[in-house]
Amino acid sequence: MLRPFTLHRPETAEEACALLARLGEDAVPYAGGTELLLLMKLGLLRPPHLVDVKRIRELNELADGGRLTIGATVTHRSLERSPLVRARCPLVASVARHVANVRVRNVGTIGGNLAFADPHSDLATLFLALDAHVELVSPGGRRELSLGDFVRGPWETARRPDELLAGVRLAPWPSRAAAYVKFGVHERPTLGIAVALGLNGGDGRAGARIQDARIAVGCVGPRPARMFTAEARLRGVSVDRVDDVVGAVGDSAAAGVDPADDLHGSADYKREMVAVFVRRALRVAAARAGGVEPATSFPYAVVA
Ligand SMILES: Cc1cc2nc3c(=O)[nH]c(=O)nc-3n(C[C@H](O)[C@H](O)[C@H](O)COP(=O)(O)OP(=O)(O)OC[C@H]3O[C@@H](n4cnc5c(N)ncnc54)[C@H](O)[C@@H]3O)c2cc1C
Repeated sequence: MLRPFTLHRPETAEEACALLARLGEDAVPYAGGTELLLLMKLGLLRPPHLVDVKRIRELNELADGGRLTIGATVTHRSLERSPLVRARCPLVASVARHVANVRVRNVGTIGGNLAFADPHSDLATLFLALDAHVELVSPGGRRELSLGDFVRGPWETARRPDELLAGVRLAPWPSRAAAYVKFGVHERPTLGIAVALGLNGGDGRAGARIQDARIAVGCVGPRPARMFTAEARLRGVSVDRVDDVVGAVGDSAAAGVDPADDLHGSADYKREMVAVFVRRALRVAAARAGGVEPATSFPYAVVA
């Protein structure tokens, strides 16, 4: 049951931060409430004050200024349907379409997802691969942090109590050679793999070589992680010959994760799944480089 609380509805980020600063530990930001209200109903969190951030116009914007800016209160559903996001970062729109279920997507926000720092976040994994940065606003001003610095661990971020997450910024990936594959049998994903390949000479050129490779693995460790050693194995490889190295790259990623036994499976099982799904994600990304959308059907998995 929900205990009584006071709901504040500021109209600007500055007003919201001033409230957070004044009320201290008694107040928390409140967006879609899909996580927060659940914790409150279970009695795991009892904040006397909620600062509703959904009326703050600047937090609800999607803007294109070189980098794509996604405001913190943009919902998964808006991200999925935005013509701007579909044109500039189709993979982001496609991943948003596969978050949770339509009820959660309709009210759950990007900011709430990242600020909550649940290790089973699809967006944190994808955004890490795309070198995203978050913007934080406080009574003291604004600061930008890389997503890797922002997410510190399970349910832990670098956000100070009087700060609001204003949004996330990312540079659209210049190649079609990217994929996100998620796998799981529970409500939240057991595993998420984001792969993005940058090719010299661009997509569709026979013999184009990989000059930049990003692999991020999420859900199996305390926070999403880039697999730098695995990425290095891809550099210089012709995109037509990715199949020759996927085994080694998958094994390298599996060696680089830090899984724990839990209800999603044992640590050994998760490592094995990382190897399998890195291989699969890489094959999809490489096929997309050549303009081919491969037919995929992996049980309990979604390819975005
Ligand atoms: C059934 C279910 C299935 C799910 N499946 C998936 C999935 O498949 N993939 C996935 O990635 N996620 C999944 N999620 C997580 C979902 O994406 C998040 O619940 C949602 O995005 C959180 O957003 P919200 O606006 O509801 O956050 P809220 O519940 O309002 O807030 C969450 C936390 O973030 C803080 N907060 C919110 N906004 C801000 C802000 N602007 N600045 C600072 N702090 C803020 C709040 O204080 C709170 O601590 C699932 C959730 C549920 C309930």
